[in-house]
Amino acid sequence: MTDLNGHLTDIRNWARDFAENEVAPRAAEMDRAGRYDASVIDEMFAAGMMGMLVPSEYGGRGSSALEYITVVEELARADASTALVMSIHNSLVVALLDEFASDEVRARVLPSLARDRVGAFALTELDPAAPTRATERDGNFSVDGTKMYITNGPVADVIVLFAITGEVEIERHGKLVKKNEFSALLIENGEAKGLRRENIGGRLGLTAAPVGKLDFEGLEVPVGNVIGKRGGGYRMAMKVLDGGRIGAAAMAVGVAQASVEAARSYATSRVLQGKAISSFQGVQFMIAEIATKLSAARALTYEAAREMERGAPITKIAAQAKLFASETASFVASKALQVHGGSGVVRGLHPVERLFRDARVMEIIEGTSEIQKLIVAGCELKS
Ligand SMILES: Cc1cc2nc3c(=O)[nH]c(=O)nc-3n(C[C@H](O)[C@H](O)[C@H](O)COP(=O)(O)OP(=O)(O)OC[C@H]3O[C@@H](n4cnc5c(N)ncnc54)[C@H](O)[C@@H]3O)c2cc1C
Repeated sequence: MTDLNGHLTDIRNWARDFAENEVAPRAAEMDRAGRYDASVIDEMFAAGMMGMLVPSEYGGRGSSALEYITVVEELARADASTALVMSIHNSLVVALLDEFASDEVRARVLPSLARDRVGAFALTELDPAAPTRATERDGNFSVDGTKMYITNGPVADVIVLFAITGEVEIERHGKLVKKNEFSALLIENGEAKGLRRENIGGRLGLTAAPVGKLDFEGLEVPVGNVIGKRGGGYRMAMKVLDGGRIGAAAMAVGVAQASVEAARSYATSRVLQGKAISSFQGVQFMIAEIATKLSAARALTYEAAREMERGAPITKIAAQAKLFASETASFVASKALQVHGGSGVVRGLHPVERLFRDARVMEIIEGTSEIQKLIVAGCELKS
């Protein structure tokens, strides 16, 4: 159930006010240019949105999961690229450092992530057959490899980088076998020699978000920059991706919400045969169907956030929410575009075509639909 108590209503009003006044008016132009307006990030820092998941003792808002997804949803309703910038920063970078970094790193880095430094989470490989490696030499790692499609990568001041840091021996079926040691490294000096960044332009959707390729060539990182336990990279990534998926689901709900609103507004203003098209039953059926699917996606997403707040295991419900909400957003945006007829397919004429493109990309980010299905099936079959 998604009824909000008074406090969450206040949070939603605050976020909606910000999104409608500061983000929505710039969304179409940022999409057209395929470039993010850095002043929106500055404003999100000033408003406290970039520090939502930073604990209050480190200058953040220390928000709950429900507060956080309410804001992500409202930002995505105005512009999904903006929601992506904010949600990767919070639910992957801040969340990982807060849970796993040493007290010294938390005290030093988290305040800056609430104040003015942008974070990126670099997991996806350009070529998984030749993954990023951090080779240890004289107390430093030398990092080589290429990470691909990294949100905030082109602009980030703090990068959580996942890399192979060596080999370990494990016992399997009574035999010792070698396995890659996979760790998370903190990269703070983003301009350091050995890191080249490139924005990946020409994307179908989420075009404004700075999403890039990170090329590491002999980047020197102190061995002390391993976050948490050396070799613990996979476990940490999976842990924060659970929460990240609830954020991604909330983004999808925001896009679906905007799509329903766009369909409603067009249907009541477009006149054919002397009547608004909203009077045609065929159009009403589309609106009924998308409004219903939106409600279902929102209910599942908020339930996942509530489970997270309760401290319950969320792997299955987070994957279900991400799968269902992103596929719902795609369906809803597609039907909303249908309501617009020919004018729905003209670039920049109505927000619905941007929503349609953004929603499609959401089926891929933070794990594709197929990967979410593997997670859900794994949980179902084990229980
Ligand atoms: C806008 C955008 C922002 C992103 N931001 C980030 C970010 O901040 N950080 C980051 O690390 N990554 C990021 N990504 C990367 C994103 O998470 C990956 O693109 C996504 O997880 C898919 O990985 P891939 O592109 O390597 O596709 P592949 O893994 O090569 O998948 C190709 C196809 O194979 C399917 N597939 C793969 N494995 C299986 C399997 N076992 N069973 C069935 N089907 C399978 C996939 O579902 C897909 O259909 C971003 C991507 C985009 C587009």
